[in-house]
Amino acid sequence: MKTTLHTEITVADICKGFVYNEYEGKGLFGLDGRLVIQPEYQRNYIYADGKRDVAVVESLLKGYPLGLLYFVAAPDRRWEVLDGQQRITSFGRFVSGKFAVRDENGMEQYFSGLAENLRRRIVEAPLTIYVCEGEESEIKEWFRTINIAGVPLVQQELLNSVYSGPFVTAAKEVFSNSSSALVQKWRDFLSGDVKRQAWLETALAWAAGGKEKIGGYMGEHRFETDVSPLKTFFLSVLDWADGLFTRVDPRATKGLDWARLYEAHHASPYSPEAFTTKVEELLDDPCVKDEKGIVEYVLGGCEDARLLNVRVFSDAVKKTVYARQTAEAKKAGASNCPLCAIGPKANRAKIWTLAEMDADHVAAWSKGGATDISNCQMLCRTHNRAKGNR
Ligand SMILES: [Zn+2]
Repeated sequence: MKTTLHTEITVADICKGFVYNEYEGKGLFGLDGRLVIQPEYQRNYIYADGKRDVAVVESLLKGYPLGLLYFVAAPDRRWEVLDGQQRITSFGRFVSGKFAVRDENGMEQYFSGLAENLRRRIVEAPLTIYVCEGEESEIKEWFRTINIAGVPLVQQELLNSVYSGPFVTAAKEVFSNSSSALVQKWRDFLSGDVKRQAWLETALAWAAGGKEKIGGYMGEHRFETDVSPLKTFFLSVLDWADGLFTRVDPRATKGLDWARLYEAHHASPYSPEAFTTKVEELLDDPCVKDEKGIVEYVLGGCEDARLLNVRVFSDAVKKTVYARQTAEAKKAGASNCPLCAIGPKANRAKIWTLAEMDADHVAAWSKGGATDISNCQMLCRTHNRAKGNR
């Protein structure tokens, strides 16, 4: 991995050939066509609020440094902005007359209206730029080490920059556009910020077989223009998921690892009506703490109640049951854990403290057992864990 420090580039250099697209709200190019200010994967320009953009210009007027800028060397000998596009777009828009700042007399001044020495102070301001070149892992490591001001790029934004090319561009059209039909259709099944590449990340992780394999997958397909295999698998998973339900409740469906569930369960038949009814019943059950575990629980035949993180008994109930059990155990000279009392000799008369015990459903919750005092017993930690299915 190679990083090159550039201090010879000024604001004037960057502003040469600066193009701002008012309609898309993006600073596009600079540095005489060599710099891509806002590559496809980047966030839109958000500094145009009359505060942050003005603050950038005021920093330059006062001679303050703008902070470090990071560029990535792209394959076609261009540079792409990895970090700093908001600041660059701010001064680019100011120099090209898109907004005004107030001078010391409180008067609004566009760039062209500033005194010559002030204009010079802006355009001659030196910038500190790191250009990095190298393998994805190296750039990631480097990116972790540096302390980036502002909103850091999320992992997928970084990967998009490292593997920029036709594949990323085509994939983003499908998965990173919040107004696309696909995004509208599957919002009850997927979570995360579409614009910040959460859905693209999901689609890639599903196709690649895990988040950690996304980089390899992107490298392999980098120069392809056809994203249909990616799209086909994504839709196979979601069509299957959708087919499980007659009604979809996003509390149970949004943001699940659908590809994992698909691999494990898509070969089994389900009745959508029965499936939906069971899921809705569990959503209504106040004992179920983990709504996101419901679908997997039902897919697995309602056996692994741990997926639901079933609500346990209240402290008051536990204390009452503990006191009763312990008093009876002492009278009988036995352990206050009913399973220890009939177990190996060492613990047969052991009196556990409250902290050493857990509440257990006598009749398992998954078999209809209630979560109230009549169905509560205290077991020692070991026996409670061994019983597992609550
Ligand atoms: Zn025990």
